[in-house]
Amino acid sequence: MRILVFNAGSSSLKFGVFDTGAETVQVFKGAFERFRDGGCDFRFRRDARDEGGTAPHAGLPEAIAAVPGVLADWGVEGIAAVGHRIAHGGPDFAGPARLDEDSLPRIEALTPLAPLHNPANLAAVRLAIKTWPDLPQVGVFDTAYHLTNPARATTYAVPEAWREAGLRRFGFHGTSHKYVAVRAAEELGQKVTDLRIISVHLGNGASVCAVNLGRSMDSSMGLTPLEGLVMGTRSGDVDPGAFGYLARQLGLTIEAIETALYNDSGLKGLTGSSDMRDVEDRAAAGDAKAQLAINLYAYRARKYVGAYAAAMGGVDAVVFTGGIGENSASMRRRICDGLDFMGLRLDHDHNAAVRLADRAAPQIQALESRVAVIVTETAEQLQIAREVAAHLARPEPQRRPIPVAVSGRHVHLSAEAVEALFGPGYALTPGKPLRQPGNWAAEERVTLEGPKGRLERVAILGPLRKRTQIEISRTDSFALGIDAPVRDSGALDGTPKVRIIGPAGHLDTDGLIVAARHIHTNPEDAAAMGLADGQLVDVRIGDGPRALTFTHTLVRVQPDAFTEMHIDTDEANAAGLGGEGEGALVKERATVASGA
Ligand code: AMP
Repeated sequence: MRILVFNAGSSSLKFGVFDTGAETVQVFKGAFERFRDGGCDFRFRRDARDEGGTAPHAGLPEAIAAVPGVLADWGVEGIAAVGHRIAHGGPDFAGPARLDEDSLPRIEALTPLAPLHNPANLAAVRLAIKTWPDLPQVGVFDTAYHLTNPARATTYAVPEAWREAGLRRFGFHGTSHKYVAVRAAEELGQKVTDLRIISVHLGNGASVCAVNLGRSMDSSMGLTPLEGLVMGTRSGDVDPGAFGYLARQLGLTIEAIETALYNDSGLKGLTGSSDMRDVEDRAAAGDAKAQLAINLYAYRARKYVGAYAAAMGGVDAVVFTGGIGENSASMRRRICDGLDFMGLRLDHDHNAAVRLADRAAPQIQALESRVAVIVTETAEQLQIAREVAAHLARPEPQRRPIPVAVSGRHVHLSAEAVEALFGPGYALTPGKPLRQPGNWAAEERVTLEGPKGRLERVAILGPLRKRTQIEISRTDSFALGIDAPVRDSGALDGTPKVRIIGPAGHLDTDGLIVAARHIHTNPEDAAAMGLADGQLVDVRIGDGPRALTFTHTLVRVQPDAFTEMHIDTDEANAAGLGGEGEGALVKERATVASGA
């Protein structure tokens, strides 16, 4: 499928044409930049042909109107869909969305959250709909990837009324972080769902993202793209007390402060130039302001890398991307120097010799480094094309009911754990069969113990597993006094330890999780419902005042599985569900686990 992708900003229009298939390939690259009275700059490329110069288009409308002519001149035909980068999708847009009269007003309503970015994105959408009225137009949102972030990462500790008004952390650059995390995993020959990756995107805008086992877990940008790292013209982290101080001391209005934080801060505020190449040149020539800016820039980035390694309980790879991350060997070195303590060491020769043509993703860590360090170009437009194609290829999910079962707290034991808890040679007694074929609840029970308390008579589910896994609810985790992460079954690396007590002894073992809600299904039912393994879907449970839509529900397709959604007791209580019930698919989400 041939897809035209737009990335529209206030002063530029970048676009690309991609052929998607087993591999997604860029066919054409174009940009109209530096809109000004009387014209703009342009650059077009197809294969070896490359042209640049000035064009008479002074703004976005003229530039978009010129695109069909440019594509015809360059022999690019057969566009089947248009993809748009959209900065802010708020809490609702968790995957690509058709841009139509239903979704556009909802996106427009998000403008106050991204006043500098969304208006240009939306202007491009409206102009593209006029120019290509017969083609599907699909939006891909920078925030969508981060909607998997847990509440502890997205919540600001502010009054409830503010949170109810929508004040929360979102995170941006999601398309870039998702692309580079998948690219890094490819380079390492591992599945992204097995890795803890810190993606460091350093461009004019800059952010760090903790990608934990294939999903974004935290991002340095917040409600708006202002929070976090030092950027070209944006401040990054600033004490919110600055607003009151500046208003009182300098008599500045909120608008003036906000504009300065967006446009006159960061490298520009520190040195007068927002361009890292200038800043590096000035620093090398002895300019003290530029030297401070570089030190501050690297220090802030290093702090986030350390923080996200702590947040994920370790890190397997750090990936640099964006204009600065890709091109500045000295900035990569400044950020990585001092991270030896967490097993990260650069190979300085490899760092200095990075070449990024043809989607290269060189590894630049030293031989003895436990953490891989990778550099790769970000390819946001390519990732948008992939997501648009995947979105358009998916059939509409059927709204047929899915049985819902409530999982109480339980353990899956390994053979060694059974021996430690019940004595050598002990075999558990299979009791009630479960609906998943071959699974049963044992007659025996165990006790769980943590620093705050105990949970008695916890069920044991068979058959035995290679690794012991303990599944509790969030409420249980407070009763035990141990913080358990939300994980997919089997993803147990880095999970906390808990004491399991049996009649013959006890065992201190890791594997304590709050199980992520999921749907078991088999290939036939999955096909009938239009679902794929690894996909995340929304399921509505119940009706009436306590009905709830459960987002981010993972689809697990296995031969012979009984189609059933599993939620835990907290989730069931929240939806007013007693024992069993039914849910209905409400809409699709992007496939996160497979990194599509
Ligand atoms: P982006 O927004 O990803 O295009 O990144 C723009 C930033 O990358 C600007 O600050 C540029 O100065 C910076 N940049 C590009 N090339 C280099 C380079 N060779 N060395 C240092 N910074 C660079």
